[in-house]
Amino acid sequence: MQFDAELLLLGMAPIFLACIGWEAWHARRARSDARMYSWRDTLCNTALALMHQGADKLAWLFVIPVYAYCYAHYRLLDWHAGWISFVVLFVAQDLLYYVFHRCSHRVRWLWAAHVVHHSSERMNFSTAFRQSLMYPVAGMWVFWIPLALLGFPPKQIVGIVLINLAFQFFVHTQSVGTLGWLEYVLNTPSIHRVHHARNDRYIDRNYAGVLVIWDRLFGSYVEEDPREPPVYGIVEPLYTFNPLKATFHEWASMAQDFVRVRGWRNRLSALFAPPAWAAQYHASLSGASDASDAHETAGQGQHNNNGAV
Ligand SMILES: [Zn+2]
Ligand SMILES: [Zn+2]
Repeated sequence: MQFDAELLLLGMAPIFLACIGWEAWHARRARSDARMYSWRDTLCNTALALMHQGADKLAWLFVIPVYAYCYAHYRLLDWHAGWISFVVLFVAQDLLYYVFHRCSHRVRWLWAAHVVHHSSERMNFSTAFRQSLMYPVAGMWVFWIPLALLGFPPKQIVGIVLINLAFQFFVHTQSVGTLGWLEYVLNTPSIHRVHHARNDRYIDRNYAGVLVIWDRLFGSYVEEDPREPPVYGIVEPLYTFNPLKATFHEWASMAQDFVRVRGWRNRLSALFAPPAWAAQYHASLSGASDASDAHETAGQGQHNNNGAV
């Protein structure tokens, strides 16, 4: 099946904007949440989207030849254009998206890019635009190489990735409740609200792109509980609307930790351990400096700055 996803996305732009307008109007009318939209947050999200688009266009120039090489030399299958090949491509890419997304929450190197999507404390359609220009550096493109090996040409790989991301725009809203039987099949607003929450029972759950079956199969599914509304944002909050700070703060923090810790085991942890490692390490540092402050206040003048993790 031939399709031009870039054209499709361009055609969908008015729908995205209409959704944002409807949601802002709906929230105001229902007075459901005065904090749903703020100009500064939405402008930051828009700037991040434009930066991401630019970086993505550039990255495809380097990445498409890699897919083309894998497709030309190592593909295992040949597909006839049609619905069957489209469905196989769609399901395979959605599974790979699940793997990429789960890794992005469990490996700090990937989290350094993905954190941008999660660092807003608001949840609305414009949150979907909140992306990182560093995804190509983090290596998101590597996760789609199996599609080339399965026998799909680069143009179709790029197309299906864009379609998956376009679908995900619609799950970033607080204005839609649960959707009945669809909750068993698709990623829905309720399922994705849980994904953006930092509550203990919700954190690192619901990694779905389009199909939620992967979360249900691999044990990462949690249902939204009306008695526990999601608290949006990240464990170590980012107090800025500056898109450059939002893009690079975790990379800077990771580099700083890499230099500061002692031993290669800790250095590798600073780059590749789950993000919780960093939160724990930073807490241990501030605990050590608190202890050190207390000692100095007591006039003992001794430091207890143990950087080991
Ligand atoms: Zn995520
Ligand atoms: Zn999201």
